[in-house]
This record gives sequence, structure tokens and C-alpha cells, in this order.
Amino acid sequence: MRKTIIVGNWKMFKTNTEALAFINEVDGKVKTNENTLAGLAVPFTALSDVKKASKNLIIAAENCHFKENGAYTGEISIPMLQDLKVTHVVIGHSERREMFNETNETVNLKAKALLAANMTPILCCGETLETYEAGKTNEWVKEQITAGFAGISADDAKKVVIAYEPIWAIGTGKVATPEIAQEVCKTVREVIKGLYNDSVANEILIQYGGSVKPENIKDILAQADIDGALVGGASLEPKSYLDLINA
Ligand code: PEP
Repeated sequence: MRKTIIVGNWKMFKTNTEALAFINEVDGKVKTNENTLAGLAVPFTALSDVKKASKNLIIAAENCHFKENGAYTGEISIPMLQDLKVTHVVIGHSERREMFNETNETVNLKAKALLAANMTPILCCGETLETYEAGKTNEWVKEQITAGFAGISADDAKKVVIAYEPIWAIGTGKVATPEIAQEVCKTVREVIKGLYNDSVANEILIQYGGSVKPENIKDILAQADIDGALVGGASLEPKSYLDLINA
């Protein structure tokens, strides 16, 4: 049986002080076990303190650079994150693809560098409204996944968490119906099967993201190919976050 993994994505919200207050309020109240994992992707400035303050949550970065070090002003390397004992990193989020020139190629470089460092990439994919309305979601996602996993071994591929996030449903209040989300997550699993084999496809965790809320998370998680959620807006308030995790 696959685990469930629910991760909040705070984006550019919360100072370090606000982040710590949040963690101190929720950390002791999250009901996780070996089959249900809960996490938060937080701004770089909060990572160190939040990681130290949390006993029960996966603490993730929202991005990283694929190079170990170098003249890349403003970037954060994987060794810097490892030093803070951060274990997971979101890569290829649509906001970074759309506004910060993230490409399938850099997502792939980041995924390979994270896996080489024994860290878990949360690799995002998803289509625009235009692509969705043109009926091209499956081919779009197939291309993103194929490029994102290029050169990654089957053993490593199993360790990646994929987040399918239709861009038209992110922060818009428009949630893909559980059936639509399931259809695309199933396609993603089939793409993984085609790239690797049954065992990788059956083991890999696939999250859905896009206006997930305490009120709809149960229906989404009930879908056969959906193993968790990546949640923006509804992860920002302690009560709502706890309701998502403890739903
Ligand atoms: C996200 O940030 O990845 C996301 C899915 O945001 P929201 O839940 O607000 O749509």
C-alpha cells in the first residue's frame, strides 16, 4: 500500500517569526503515522528555525539550485539545505516555471542533483487552462514527466514525489473534480510505467494540487491514483492546515 503525503506550500508568505508561531501551534497536533506523512514547504528564511522546531512534519524547501556552489547570486544550493537537515524540495512549481524561467531541463537537473544528495524532489507538473481546454493535458504532462525523469534510474525514480497541479486550479478556487484529477494522475502513473516498469509505477507517490481545502480533500484522496496533496492557500492557517492533515 502506498503512503499518503500532504504537503503545504507557503510560497512567499510568513516571516520567520510567523512561521515559528505556526509550527509551535500545529506540530504537536498533527496526526501522522507511518502511512500518513505531513509536511510544509516554507520560505528559505524560515527553514532553519522551523526545521529545529518541528518534530512531526516533513520540512521542505520551495526551490533549490542544481549546482553545488558558484557565482549564482541569490540562489540556494542543495548542500545548504542538507546542512539544515531539510529532506524534501519542491521543484518545477508552475509559478517558478511561469515567472522564474524554470524549464523541464532545469527541473531534471534539480531532480538528479537532489536524488544524488539523497533528498526527495517533489516534482510538479501541470497544464494551463488553454492546454486543458484544447484537450492536450495528457500529452503536456507526459512531456513534462518524460523530460523531468530523463537519466534517472528506476531505483531513484521511486523516491520522487510527483505533484500534478493544473495551473487553472492553483489559487483560483477552481478545483479539478476528483474524477479529472484522478484521470490525469492515472495518466502520470502510466507514463512512469512506460518509462520504467510496473514496480516503479505502483510505488511512486503522486499528489494532486490546486485549490485543495479541508472540505474537498477526502474526495480527492479517495481516488485510486492520488496519494496526497500539495496545498497552497489552505495551508496558511493552523486550523485549516490541521483539518487537511487530520481529515
Ligand atoms: C500550490 O501552491 O501548489 C497550490 C496548489 O496552491 P492552492 O492550493 O492555493 O491552489
